[in-house]
Amino acid sequence: MEDCVFCKIRKRELPSTTLYKDDDMMIIKDINPQAKVHLIAIPNTHVPYIDMMTEEGINVLAKIISKISHCQEELGITNGYRLVVNQGEDGGQTVGHVHIHILGGEKLKDF
Ligand code: 5GP
Ligand code: ZN
Repeated sequence: MEDCVFCKIRKRELPSTTLYKDDDMMIIKDINPQAKVHLIAIPNTHVPYIDMMTEEGINVLAKIISKISHCQEELGITNGYRLVVNQGEDGGQTVGHVHIHILGGEKLKDF
């Protein structure tokens, strides 16, 4: 999508610190970190909300979750991490392009 921040980052129209990239997704540092390590894993395909994802999109999310588990050292989250997906207004979603927050690098507060 033309005015989507994450699509712009993928097309390098906006800067970001990118830790990982492949044909399905990228992992970047969040611009406003809520933990010592706060990354965002973003599928390449623009889908606004997780409840709009097709089976193909869900399979990509599964691949992303698997990739995260295999890259804990590179991502700085070997002592544990939290994955979060916000959906819609009540969920606090501010960017309408599905993404997974990766939080860690310290003991996170309980919910
Ligand atoms: P949401 O609130 O939609 O679940 O998460 C969106 C996240 O994207 C927020 O944590 C916000 O800090 C991050 N974000 C918004 N704009 C940018 C940007 O231009 N660059 C980066 N790296 N992160 C961004
Ligand atoms: Zn997008």
